[in-house]
Amino acid sequence: MYIDSHCHINFPELAARMPEILAKMAENQVTHALCVSVDLPDFPQVLALAHQHPHIYASVGVHPDYEDTPEPSVEQLVQLADDPKIIAIGETGLDYFRLEGDLEWQRERFRTHIKASRITRKPLIIHTRSASEDTIRIMREEGAGTEAGGVAGVMHCFTESLEVARAAIEMGFYISFSGIVTFKSAKDLQAVALELPLERILIETDSPYLAPVPFRGRMNEPGFVAHVGEYIAKLKGVSVEQVAEQTTANFRTLFNVPA
Ligand SMILES: [Zn+2]
Ligand SMILES: [Zn+2]
Repeated sequence: MYIDSHCHINFPELAARMPEILAKMAENQVTHALCVSVDLPDFPQVLALAHQHPHIYASVGVHPDYEDTPEPSVEQLVQLADDPKIIAIGETGLDYFRLEGDLEWQRERFRTHIKASRITRKPLIIHTRSASEDTIRIMREEGAGTEAGGVAGVMHCFTESLEVARAAIEMGFYISFSGIVTFKSAKDLQAVALELPLERILIETDSPYLAPVPFRGRMNEPGFVAHVGEYIAKLKGVSVEQVAEQTTANFRTLFNVPA
């Protein structure tokens, strides 16, 4: 049994194929998927999916790559998160790879999400790309993580160094690997996954992007998270069942959802 800890099945290319997507999940023993919000205009659809399907959870947040979109306030995020199917705040974070120039608005938006997470006690889903130093600094400044009296979260679609992973884990965070870890070229990331304890690892698709091997280049979907799990099992030399069980347990512990 697997859980896809991060997907965007509300995006039209996937939303149009819902019955097929749910069938593929069942076929691959993917029991649940967390549909992650990227902006406020799309949030009602994300929430509706979670309400319609018992196997779908949802989050509320505004992605750091969405520049021209309504800016959320702390109060707004807190209010929108007030639903049992909303189990996380995000995705949020920093992305200095996709956008450049004065990105102070991105950092402010990130701080807003951390504050909302502390108030709601719902974990953060953090996206960080070419910005790990500022990401960790702002997490510390805003009291993200269990050490600082906040709640933990996940560094999603992780592609940073072992050092960054360890800094996040020290704050009580989990590290989530996507299909990228299965790519031949991802030697550094594979070395990171090998070092980290399975107790701190989540798996995800980030679908519709980043399909894992053997589906690389195709449209990704939550059912394919099984291939990420299988790859990590092979990499670590443990059984597929162990990876499935542990990553599922990690998801349930982090997001506070009993089996
Ligand atoms: Zn992301
Ligand atoms: Zn995402």
